[in-house]
Amino acid sequence: MCGIVGYVGEKKAQDFLISGLKRLEYRGYDSAGIVTIDEDKNATLVRAKGKIKNLEEKLAKEKRDDKIGIGHTRWATHGEPSERNAHPHQSGSIYLVHNGIIENYKELKQELGKYEFKSETDSEVLAALIDSFYQDGKYPLTNAVVQALKLVKGTYGIAVVSALNPDEIVVARSGSPLIVGVGHNETLVASDASAIVGHTKHAIYLNDGEVATIKKNSIEIKTLNAEPVSAKVEEIETNLAAIQKGGYEHFLLKEIMEQPESLTETLRGRVRTEEGIVHLGGPGLTEAELRKIKHLIIVGCGTAYHAGLLASYYIEQFTPEITVETVIASEYRYRQAYIPEDAVALIVSQSGETADTLACLREIKKQGIKTIGIVNVIGSTIAREVDGGTYVHVGPEISVASTKAFTSQVIAMVMFGLTIAQAKGVKKSVLRPYVLEIAEMPEEIKKVLGNVKDEVEKIAKKYAKYEHAIYLGRDTAYPTAMEGALKLKEISYVDANAYAFGELKHGPLALVDDRFFEVAFLPEGALYEKAVSNVQEVLARGGHVLAVTNVEEFDLPVENVVKITTSIEIFAPVLMNLVSQLLAYYMTVAKGYNVDQPRNLAKSVTVE
Ligand code: GLU
Repeated sequence: MCGIVGYVGEKKAQDFLISGLKRLEYRGYDSAGIVTIDEDKNATLVRAKGKIKNLEEKLAKEKRDDKIGIGHTRWATHGEPSERNAHPHQSGSIYLVHNGIIENYKELKQELGKYEFKSETDSEVLAALIDSFYQDGKYPLTNAVVQALKLVKGTYGIAVVSALNPDEIVVARSGSPLIVGVGHNETLVASDASAIVGHTKHAIYLNDGEVATIKKNSIEIKTLNAEPVSAKVEEIETNLAAIQKGGYEHFLLKEIMEQPESLTETLRGRVRTEEGIVHLGGPGLTEAELRKIKHLIIVGCGTAYHAGLLASYYIEQFTPEITVETVIASEYRYRQAYIPEDAVALIVSQSGETADTLACLREIKKQGIKTIGIVNVIGSTIAREVDGGTYVHVGPEISVASTKAFTSQVIAMVMFGLTIAQAKGVKKSVLRPYVLEIAEMPEEIKKVLGNVKDEVEKIAKKYAKYEHAIYLGRDTAYPTAMEGALKLKEISYVDANAYAFGELKHGPLALVDDRFFEVAFLPEGALYEKAVSNVQEVLARGGHVLAVTNVEEFDLPVENVVKITTSIEIFAPVLMNLVSQLLAYYMTVAKGYNVDQPRNLAKSVTVE
């Protein structure tokens, strides 16, 4: 999960390390640290508990001109967040930063009997292991790292320096992302491209099982088995504006408000309104292959899972003879599920690095099933390992709570469904309404956001007193309710849960009392009246209901209503989700919590 940075070049390493860590802070923020080494082989290690600004304050007293260093912002897995457990970890002359989990660290620790450990982390054990092979510089640093990694079970992205060797950084990865930025007389390391944007446009994405020896003017990559790798230098597409707040107080609000533009990017070149069709090049399936598909498995975690669930309701509406199953990656990877031959799997991940989703991808591929990525981050591991894919192109999503990625993931998956339906010969008259609505969505999102923003803010202020919430919906509004509840709980810490309206009587109705408020999604459509009856049942028991609806003549005596005025009908629940996003945002602001970096969480979940 964490952020890793590294620098070797002619400038002050501290400057890049600290600015890079700030950009990566969304990946972990319980402690941070950097080490730099000067030409006389003196290392300066500075670490601090909490946010990067605490580290920055300490660094103000430890300014160095050193030209090489590594840094880390942590998301603790082993050992509490504290200065002692913060990275870099030192062992002899070795300093290491690590992203991931060393699963066999206890066994390794026992074997490293002579070492004294200062932290509770698994990562420090790896530092010691490397030191034991390095033997104070008797062997090259890269060799020591390789020897150590051969004994490691688990996942890692690491950067290692030795105080005895102040001109090189050794980096390696297995399951956690690492990028090497190729600059002019400098080489940069980062776990995410956003740290190096503005420094260089050229980057090498390391693959699992690769180790790179990095100097100011050279990058040598080998596999753990010492086979040389000829690295491809790729262009980084992100620009600086995309990773800045652009006048908004929080990234979350910026990302909510930029959905008209981000969805436009998702649709660019893919929707042909005159013909009433969509055209996706990325999946790379032939018409015959598309026609054969009878099962779709959609794999994701958290918001991506909800996006898959919502898309599945739509895909089933217009695609004949297809079953769509949306699964939670952390569960599916250990299930003994049989996947029929005529299935295709959609692998959904904003970061393209989600550990459980990646593991599912690898399992599914082993069974010979075609995999299609629905990914945002270009060049990410999932994007590179799938057979084909559709990038959602929403630009960097910095806030931990996902918003714009959700909207685009839903629509990207619906477009994939439409592609199957088109190949299967579904009548244009059936598909056209979907295609036309998709094309209209960016404009309609803009309208809805403009209309409801202030109103939702007012309601959020009133509801900020609550610690419990129930989100309710049926049909396509049910996954919408699930995503709404997730958004609220992850940033405002309100105990929010979602239920299908039909499930209320089977248990959750017992919860309704003054401690709770209920958010009811009521889109116009065949099941509207049934949902209204369910709301009546909640009202009859004194529920505090906030209704979100696009029904003009809505007249239930609920506490609050947010009316969505839009020409969109089929995808109205996607627009209703904007209300959930704004509600979660404004309630969190009202409660005074950290919007972009909620406690205990981090973006890009690269550990299991
Ligand atoms: N497992 C390591 C630790 O707990 C690395 C955590 C991270 O990825 O930030 O320190």
